[in-house]
Amino acid sequence: MIENNGSKTNYFYDVIVIGGGSAGLRAAIEAHDNGSVVLLISKSKQGDPHTVLARGGINAALGIMDPKDNWMIHASDTLIEGEHIADYERVEILCKSAPEAVSELVNWGARFHMEEDGRLTQRFFGAHTYRRTVFYEDWTGDEIIRVLMQQVKERKIDLMDNVYITKLLFKDNIENVDGHPNSSSSKIKGAIGMDIKDKQLVKFNCKSLILASGGYTRVYSISSSRNYEHYGEGIDLAYEAGVDLVDMEMVQFHPTGMVWPENSLGTLATEAIRGEGGILLNSKNERFMKEYYPERMELGPRDVVARAIYNEIAEGRGTVHKGVWLDVTHLPLKKILDRLPTMYKQFKDIAGVDISREKMEVGPTAHYSMGGLSVDINCKTKVEGLFAAGEVISQIHGANRLGGNSLLDTLVFGKIAGREASIFAKQLPTPQEDNPSESEAYNDIQKFEKDLFVVLDNPLSFRKEIQDIMDQVAGIVRSASSLQKGLEKILALKDRFYSQIRIFQKNELNNENLIKNFIMTLEVRSSLVVCESIIRSAFMRKESRGAHFRSDFPNIDNDVWHVNIYCTKVGGKMILYKQNVKEVKGILKEVIRDHSKPIHNNESE
Ligand SMILES: Cc1cc2nc3c(=O)[nH]c(=O)nc-3n(C[C@H](O)[C@H](O)[C@H](O)COP(=O)(O)OP(=O)(O)OC[C@H]3O[C@@H](n4cnc5c(N)ncnc54)[C@H](O)[C@@H]3O)c2cc1C
Repeated sequence: MIENNGSKTNYFYDVIVIGGGSAGLRAAIEAHDNGSVVLLISKSKQGDPHTVLARGGINAALGIMDPKDNWMIHASDTLIEGEHIADYERVEILCKSAPEAVSELVNWGARFHMEEDGRLTQRFFGAHTYRRTVFYEDWTGDEIIRVLMQQVKERKIDLMDNVYITKLLFKDNIENVDGHPNSSSSKIKGAIGMDIKDKQLVKFNCKSLILASGGYTRVYSISSSRNYEHYGEGIDLAYEAGVDLVDMEMVQFHPTGMVWPENSLGTLATEAIRGEGGILLNSKNERFMKEYYPERMELGPRDVVARAIYNEIAEGRGTVHKGVWLDVTHLPLKKILDRLPTMYKQFKDIAGVDISREKMEVGPTAHYSMGGLSVDINCKTKVEGLFAAGEVISQIHGANRLGGNSLLDTLVFGKIAGREASIFAKQLPTPQEDNPSESEAYNDIQKFEKDLFVVLDNPLSFRKEIQDIMDQVAGIVRSASSLQKGLEKILALKDRFYSQIRIFQKNELNNENLIKNFIMTLEVRSSLVVCESIIRSAFMRKESRGAHFRSDFPNIDNDVWHVNIYCTKVGGKMILYKQNVKEVKGILKEVIRDHSKPIHNNESE
């Protein structure tokens, strides 16, 4: 671990990883094992990234409980649930690599649940044909982070936490009219960030850089992320560098997050509650799912249940806190304590509700971003030396993610990104030749000060406005007229943002409030890019597919919209274009043809 004593501000590494979640940690391990000198930077505290929230498990077609399972059926489930706009080659890599990714975790000491005979337990998750989800109690993400952190520490990989990366640096680039790099000719050189603890700007030099900075669900007011993460910071950094964004309209809403008390808004009430027999009721005490999905009731697909809850609330049958009731009071206390111990504790501690006696108040919560950065199958962006992995990238989950597939994708593509970034770094000259002096670092930092030392006096009110707009226009149900109004509001807010930010002086850095506002200002900046891309893409896609529902185009339209939607930056403007989804080839084509969407009754993320 680097001890930053407040004087060093210039670092050089072969490979720098931004993000301490499962994708970033796995990437750092792989880059190190391929011979690179690696630094892992995160704004979150060491061992406490968003990934620790992941509960239900990680998928691999190990065939332990269901011997008929194999990678092809796993891939087929993934492509079908993603409504056929995921890239089949990535899905193939994901599902083929899954058994190895899980075995690796077990070899590294992950304490996944086992049967009495010592075999790993595999359970059902929604829309999987077979039982293939491996888990550790109710805290699979936390366990994976524990194991990966141990591996990182054993390898003595340098870690810096509490550092907020604000800008990527490039060399040999021809700047375009914005003064931003021209991605087709630029090469990564490093990054600049704010060391929050030591309150100073720091410069990082590297040969290759991996963005593993997570998703963007916090642009909505109700999200299962914590309120200090997932504003799409990596999306903003890469988009400014010329990387395209893909399928940004695809945001998954989990049907049941807490809606009260206010400080718990969006915190997940796991699907296991419904899996164990929990029922949904509106304010008239009606079990409304029988009107929407009588075949599976509360255990319908996430998007269907989330839309049903949305409708009940919109039509005036919601609770006082704009939710519906989730009821397990008919279950024996013993079953609740055995099967739902974390939920029992969560509602008791946060809301003072004893779920064995009282109903839970819940509503949809923004849960996962399927859209993200455009990368190739080796996690390369179009900027030389810039790689990305984890929730920040796109085209793995299509229009809807299968529960348990995200932790898997962070490990599989994190590993690929680490390997590729290391290979890229090896082709470049030795560090000493490139290594600029401290004074050069200061010059570089000064060059960007105007961009970096910016703060809003009221970033919280901007954040609230953004989230209100997104809730209203780009949530579970969207339409042309609301999206159009939303876009106008976001663009007006963007103008206001740039007219209200002020440059502050270095001596103000000792002010704790200013630091908080500075971070929030950067989160607002990222959110504005993310929101513009979500709204523009949702407006363009004139159909309903997976998580994207248009009330004015309620059906899927494969003739026109079997495409991925790209946002690209041209002359300072966001321009959209679409590209046909690659046709599935090889063995998967046959498997998908013969395979239908699975139905079963246990979902647990
Ligand atoms: C409640 C909940 C339950 C879930 N359960 C499951 C599950 O059971 N199974 C499953 O497969 N998936 C699950 N998911 C999804 C899964 O947890 C995430 O998709 C996954 O953890 C993302 O990992 P990541 O490494 O890509 O990013 P993250 O874990 O989000 O890490 C991002 C890292 O980047 C850092 N960072 C971001 N911006 C900057 C910056 N500008 N400068 C420096 N550092 C930066 C952050 O500090 C953080 O360290 C769940 C999600 C939630 C919210």
